Amino acid sequence: MKIAFFSTKPYDRIWFEPMGKEYGFEIRFYEVPFHEETVSLAKGFDAVCIFVNDYVNAEMIKQLYDMHVKAILLRSAGFNHVDVKAAEDKIQVLRVPSYSPEAVAEFAMTMLMTVNRYTHKAYNRTREFNMSLHGLMGVDFYRKTAGIVGTGKIGQAMIRICNGFGMEVLAYDPYPNKDLDVEYVSVQELMERSNVISLHCPLTSETKHLVNADTIAKMKDGVYLVNTSRGALIDTDALIDGLVAGKFGGVGLDVYEEEEGIFYEDKSNEIMRDENLARLMTFPNVLITSHMGFFTREAMQAIAKVTLENAYALENGLPLVNRVGSEAVK
Ligand code: NAD
Repeated sequence: MKIAFFSTKPYDRIWFEPMGKEYGFEIRFYEVPFHEETVSLAKGFDAVCIFVNDYVNAEMIKQLYDMHVKAILLRSAGFNHVDVKAAEDKIQVLRVPSYSPEAVAEFAMTMLMTVNRYTHKAYNRTREFNMSLHGLMGVDFYRKTAGIVGTGKIGQAMIRICNGFGMEVLAYDPYPNKDLDVEYVSVQELMERSNVISLHCPLTSETKHLVNADTIAKMKDGVYLVNTSRGALIDTDALIDGLVAGKFGGVGLDVYEEEEGIFYEDKSNEIMRDENLARLMTFPNVLITSHMGFFTREAMQAIAKVTLENAYALENGLPLVNRVGSEAVK
């Protein structure tokens, strides 16, 4: 099987190269992202393998189909960047539904604790022997209320972490999990009662701008918000208004509405033209990271393993357990 990998970085090769050889796959690593202008590079390959900021729209599906590409292998759990309906009956879309939910949940709590306890500022201060504590006061999370939006794999890992912190945990999910020892409430009640809100639902037409001017107005003053899910869950303009108004204790964003083309790249020598991103960087209580919640050794290894297992299953006519069908999108 010949597979064209897109948006690859040196760290992708660490696991994919040796594992791909074991399967006998012929892998070509492209550094360029996958979009309309690079889709032609898929010619002659059986599958393309893409990452979170690549995308495949209906027109690209048609082109891939005409090139006899059989599968789109996603190196991710989320599939909002692929027109799954257009792919139905033409090309298989296979994802990695779970690799390390703990990696993302642990990172979400890392972001929360950073903006709460200002370790990023303390690090810089003490390196210059500025041992002043002024401006670095945080709050205890112990006995505070955490609201978890989406109680799938990552949400559940986050619930375990919040329980470990001694927090009261609320959750919202349209499909509550009866096995979880958590208080399910409406999304509105969650926004109203939580001191800490962590987003762990997928991006869909329903969840787009779940955090908006109305929901922000319902939140407690001094609320901590973290988004490790997908950027468009938050209306960035409304978030900036809320930050300016002093609504938030702290905000952690591992994902950003307009991250495509910016995240994962070194833009340090360029003029930042995204004014919202530039504005967000100016708030002392906002931490932005470059979509790296997944980035642990365990998760990367698991992503490589499951992605290549998906390809192997396709090649050998085995059940496609990680197929994303049109029933997955509303
Ligand atoms: P999952 O499928 O296990 O869980 C998602 C949960 O969200 C499900 O329980 C589902 O019922 C729920 N949900 C669906 N619609 C909802 C709504 N309207 N409101 C609230 N909940 C809703 O997925 P997961 O593995 O836990 O991943 C969650 C998200 O995390 C993914 O969709 C992906 O976008 C993101 N993610 C980010 C990173 C990262 O590196 N930052 C890594 C992996 C996944």
